[in-house]
Amino acid sequence: MALVNPLSFIQKAREKGVAIAAFNVHNLETIQAVAEGAAEERAPVIIQTTPGTLKHAGIEYIAACVKVASEKHDIPIALHVDHCPSFNTIVQCIRNGYTSVMIDGSRLPYEDNTALVKKVVELAHSVGIAVEGELGRIGGTEDDMSLDEREATFTVPEEARDFVEATGIDTLAVAIGTAHGVYKWEPRLDFRRLAEIRELVDVPLVLHGASGVDDESIKRAITGGICKINIATELKIPMAEAIQEVFRSRPDENDPRKYMGPAKEAVKEVVRNKIRLCGCSGLADELEGIR
Ligand SMILES: [Zn+2]
Repeated sequence: MALVNPLSFIQKAREKGVAIAAFNVHNLETIQAVAEGAAEERAPVIIQTTPGTLKHAGIEYIAACVKVASEKHDIPIALHVDHCPSFNTIVQCIRNGYTSVMIDGSRLPYEDNTALVKKVVELAHSVGIAVEGELGRIGGTEDDMSLDEREATFTVPEEARDFVEATGIDTLAVAIGTAHGVYKWEPRLDFRRLAEIRELVDVPLVLHGASGVDDESIKRAITGGICKINIATELKIPMAEAIQEVFRSRPDENDPRKYMGPAKEAVKEVVRNKIRLCGCSGLADELEGIR
């Protein structure tokens, strides 16, 4: 099937009290691993790329590969750009068939951020594309951007309500104690803050920086209203380890199929586990309306 707007299945996940897993991909093998893993779990899935990945692989290549994955597997797949600070890149993504975009104006003053997000919402909604926004700043490293934990700010519930109303975004990423990348210490999520945001904000909530957060906290976050969970680092690590393992045992190996093959299988296993953790296995078969 064609790529779909993810709101169709995020809403369903919300009704059922489960979450949709969204995976950051970097190349052909990771796209295949996510699509195959999700298809085996019969789960709708969001495949996403940061602007850094678009620079590395090219928007056209990524979009073409994900479209093929979507046609090949009988599950709803959405293609999303993650943490995009540029309006022009958003336009490029939409032109190339992305069905969802995240505009990240978190480095701008509140008023400018709101104006930028609103502009993206107007454009995206006019062509049926979903928009994710973020308020508060999630710490850690994403692409080349690094945010010191001390600079990271938690989402303020009242501000989140005003931001959603002012911009018209479809989903909101919240900063409640997670960070991008590898944790230097055990992350602790602020569930009280999540409950307060849930109380005031109507749109589905998104959790970034979920790699390294223990399973119980993820489940609790989903129960507390998180409908989309972003997973990036937890795919990168097993991929790198699988490749390292090949070269440890066969230092002279030079056939990409021989090291990318195991890497793909390692990623796929994590994809299936995360989908199960999110509770959305089988959800593809409950979405007749959009298939
Ligand atoms: Zn993020």
